Amino acid sequence: MTTSENVSPVIFKKNGEIAVLTINNPPVNALAKEVRISLASCLESANQDPEILAIVLHGSGRNLCGGADIREFNTPDREVQPMSRDLMNLLEKSNKIIVAAIHGPTLGGGLELALGCHYRVADKLASIGLPEVQRGVIPGAGGTQRLPRLIGLQPAIKMITSGLPINAVEALNLGIIDLLSNDDLVQDAIAFARKLIANSSKPRRISTMKIEGEIEENIKLIEEHKLLLMKDSPALSAPVYALESIHNAITMPFDEGWKAEADLSRISMASDQSRSLVHAFFAERQVHKIPDISSDTILRPIKKAAIIGAGTMGGGIAMSFVNAGIPVVLIEMSSENLANGMSRIEANYKASTKRGRLSEDEMASRLSRITTSTNYADISDSDIVIEAVYEEMDVKRIVFKEIDRFAREDAILATNTSTLNVNEIALFTTRPESVLGTHFFSPANVMKLLEIVRADRTSKDIVASVMEMAKEINKVGVVVGVCDGFVGNRMLAPYFRQGDFLVEEGVMPQDVDNVVETYGFRMGPFRVSDLAGLDISWAIEKRRAETRPLDERFSPLLDRICQLGRYGQKTGAGWYFYEEGRKAIPDPVIEEIIFARSREMSLNRRTIEDDEILQRCLYSMINEGAKILEEGLAIRSSDIDVIWLHGYGFPRHRGGPMFYADLVGLRNVCDTLDKFYREWGDKWEPSHLLRNLADAGSSFSEWDKKQMEK
Ligand code: NAD
Repeated sequence: MTTSENVSPVIFKKNGEIAVLTINNPPVNALAKEVRISLASCLESANQDPEILAIVLHGSGRNLCGGADIREFNTPDREVQPMSRDLMNLLEKSNKIIVAAIHGPTLGGGLELALGCHYRVADKLASIGLPEVQRGVIPGAGGTQRLPRLIGLQPAIKMITSGLPINAVEALNLGIIDLLSNDDLVQDAIAFARKLIANSSKPRRISTMKIEGEIEENIKLIEEHKLLLMKDSPALSAPVYALESIHNAITMPFDEGWKAEADLSRISMASDQSRSLVHAFFAERQVHKIPDISSDTILRPIKKAAIIGAGTMGGGIAMSFVNAGIPVVLIEMSSENLANGMSRIEANYKASTKRGRLSEDEMASRLSRITTSTNYADISDSDIVIEAVYEEMDVKRIVFKEIDRFAREDAILATNTSTLNVNEIALFTTRPESVLGTHFFSPANVMKLLEIVRADRTSKDIVASVMEMAKEINKVGVVVGVCDGFVGNRMLAPYFRQGDFLVEEGVMPQDVDNVVETYGFRMGPFRVSDLAGLDISWAIEKRRAETRPLDERFSPLLDRICQLGRYGQKTGAGWYFYEEGRKAIPDPVIEEIIFARSREMSLNRRTIEDDEILQRCLYSMINEGAKILEEGLAIRSSDIDVIWLHGYGFPRHRGGPMFYADLVGLRNVCDTLDKFYREWGDKWEPSHLLRNLADAGSSFSEWDKKQMEK
């Protein structure tokens, strides 16, 4: 091969009569403006070179191209010529055949780039897709116009409106790629190009193709899909915009559909949904950065875990480890408890095999990674020991003394407590610097969130090691500080409190749930409580009662409902009545309890508007989040958003509570909090941080940036 010119970030090399253009923009070859400019210039050189008969477009490193550079979203760089969409047309117009050589994740603009080429050869491990809707936007560089023309309407709608990727074999079957490479991708693509030249093939331009099928039938298909979207994801706008653009591909010539796609893309990009989804994406990347812990900290490898307590949480935590291939020893007080714990784990796996989600072999190999014991000495070869016993300080004391006795000197010692003070627990050992909290969420084998509770004396390498462990066991780890409820549950408390107060003042549980569900939560606070079990919140309430200030507003509704033995879904009744299954039915018994409470408080029940319901539920939670930031118990507001997205079902298209506050505007949030404070006093006073940011015209996102610059 001879190199005629090296133009970074696209490298131009000649292989006989074939020009090989290699995109070289690590880490993912995103289509940043430099790449677009360079690729257009290499393309022109290749087209003008009489020795060149065909072009192979390839990517260095992990993939052909990772698509649009997400950092250019909402910036002028995105508009720098040639824009991605023009670049795809430039490629397609080339008089010399262009073969895209696809490897790695070739998604979004990456696939649109390949669709601008005339033919496609892919590596077996390539993954191919148009995930734009997952960021609240639509494919804006010809994807909605070219894909249906190439593979037909039905599969194109599925790929574009779901955003889910497919593998290379599926892509071959659909006709997205023309050849599967079994060996050296670039050599195979060059050989393919030579064959095309030998056969006197011409450039095959997708824009000139016609979508298969009759127009009327195709339009009907679009309408049917629209109804499906309305039913499955009524809140999401990007899939609907995408469908509209695909509709244009049926009814308009390519150029018109292509122009309309740009308009729809712009509209979707300017939406709050897109900003929120992009925020969620970056928040999840950012969460791993812990400012005072260097990225080259030497980590402690975690190859074996000991879990103390084989109850609800211990069992789920053990499953998370063995699912990731990490062996576990489960410790209990008695063989009987161990047998019970193991049979719950087995039943859980069996349910997965029944649903076809897990093979019998895989179940057996996962179970084989669990050993059980009633002897603490058996934790001595574990790299991490996680305590998940009863939530009582005295029990934790006994257990941690045992752990301290038997755990290896360099082992990480963790508690799964949800309410107790991790600093106090650390002092039960002779090595508090080795202790931290790992707050898993229930069911622990399913829920993604892991709050990593950094205590006062926890050493840095332990925090970093557990952060890495979270990834390995497929969790999203977020570092938080020690306080009652940590971050998530501490913010949940005021949200639930407002739900109770709202029903005391004038609405019913279903009114609150409906407003919160319309906002985007899958379940409102009352339906969630019924699902989780009211007895759990009741026990926490009772414990808190001992320290609650006498003048603090408190609703006894939960207490009254639990006294009737109504613990939620599991007892067939809670805030709602459950006739069969999970359908929550409003219950006159509950209405009567609520009315009686309003009378007892001498409250004239009033109509409460949906706006007020939503503001009281969300702003109380946001204000608590701001206090958490102020107290240094979360690193960034975006970390709080990650906690709510992964642990509490906060709607992703809203970005998380703190980002939502930014979108509403902190001035507006603060003014509303002030209004509530004047009306009800209590805990409504805006946090200092929130007020300061509002007064400065700033936002939580800006605050995050400043924290990171410190
Ligand atoms: P659980 O009652 O289901 O299980 C506790 C287990 O610990 C029991 O099997 C018990 O036999 C065992 N145990 C008690 N003392 C022991 C000892 N000395 N040695 C060995 N085993 C012992 O409780 P759970 O719901 O699994 O909760 C465990 C911990 O996780 C608690 O700290 C709880 O606050 C926390 N947590 C629970 C949830 C939840 O939703 N259940 C969520 C997050 C955190």
